Amino acid sequence: MKQILVTGGAGFIGSHLCERLLKEGNSVICMDNYFTGKKKNVLHLLNNPYFELVRHDVTFPYYVEVDEIYNLACPASPVHYQFDPVSTVKTSVIGAINMLGLAKRIKARILQASTSEVYGDPAVHPQEESYWGNVNPIGLRSCYDEGKRCAETLFMDYHRQNKVDIKIIRIFNTYGPNMRPDDGRVVSNFIVQALKGEDLTIYGDGTQTRSFQYVDDLVEGMIRMMATENFTGPVNLGNPGEFTMLELAEMIIRLVGSKSKITFMPLPSDDPKQRKPDISLAKKMLNGWEPKVKLEEGLKPTIEYFRNL
Ligand code: NAD
Ligand code: UDP
Ligand code: UDP
Repeated sequence: MKQILVTGGAGFIGSHLCERLLKEGNSVICMDNYFTGKKKNVLHLLNNPYFELVRHDVTFPYYVEVDEIYNLACPASPVHYQFDPVSTVKTSVIGAINMLGLAKRIKARILQASTSEVYGDPAVHPQEESYWGNVNPIGLRSCYDEGKRCAETLFMDYHRQNKVDIKIIRIFNTYGPNMRPDDGRVVSNFIVQALKGEDLTIYGDGTQTRSFQYVDDLVEGMIRMMATENFTGPVNLGNPGEFTMLELAEMIIRLVGSKSKITFMPLPSDDPKQRKPDISLAKKMLNGWEPKVKLEEGLKPTIEYFRNL
């Protein structure tokens, strides 16, 4: 039985990861400061004797003995990471230093949840890992993008300098149950609006694209990545199916059976125009991993989740 630490474990992705790790017979410590995460997301795991929930902020040192660390702590939605941008940078950078210091001391393997945002508003399409990105270092999104880029730097330097056993994944837009209704990202916004019969808010003209991955596919990729030998990444984990926000809005209105209309609002600054992962490396290094759940399929359980809230 492995002892595994998941930081940000009470968040959207973290809660699914904790559940899966427990199912596979591991012992899990879920650490979270509940900035965006909720105890409710892991309530059903609390009666499992191999699950431990700890309130802690990753920017403070943390001492524990584990075999593996998944570092997910960080708000992920623009609305939440821009609420207190300084704290977002601290969470990514100081959080990475603390977790790498921990991994170094106890010789644990550590995986960093990085992001497609390291590619910024990409000039290369689709994005492969060798692309260095097009990021504004001083804009409203930089607290998140640059924080995550610096965390990648720290991971690579602890690996080269201290031989820490690291893994870096770059997650592309992921959705599913346990997202907050007020998360602010597009999938949850549109579903909540469609269920209430309100207008769906498209920012800009709706021609910008994203590629949406269902959370179960991501968790499978994360676990496979953690199990690799002699491979640090970074590796993209995302679903290459690319959609415009207009297409997404229409699909959600149809699946919900809603009478909602679409309304257009200003595009936030530095909003990437297109995004789609090249997943060749993941396929090659992670035993043929690829997303199994199509957008339309994954939206159904997600809509049901929000309907029953
Ligand atoms: P989320 O906001 O639901 O989860 C983040 C979790 O981290 C929350 O539970 C939050 O309370 C916790 N947290 C934040 N600051 C913390 C701190 N200082 N100390 C301890 N815990 C803290 O978002 P998510 O979508 O589940 O994202 C999880 C990770 O995956 C994040 O690192 C995010 O950057 C990364 N990611 C997510 C996506 C996506 O599309 N969902 C895409 C790329 C990267
Ligand atoms: N750290 C931690 N838990 C540990 C070991 C280290 O939280 O078990 C933190 C500690 O705050 C330290 C940081 O990780 O400052 C970086 O550790 P490292 O050993 O790299 O550097 P140093 O201790 O010299 O600052
Ligand atoms: N978006 C939108 N309406 C919303 C929320 C977001 O049109 O209510 C747009 C947003 O401007 C971006 C895309 O949807 O172009 C994806 O936004 P999200 O915040 O989900 O993810 P990210 O921009 O971080 O990829």
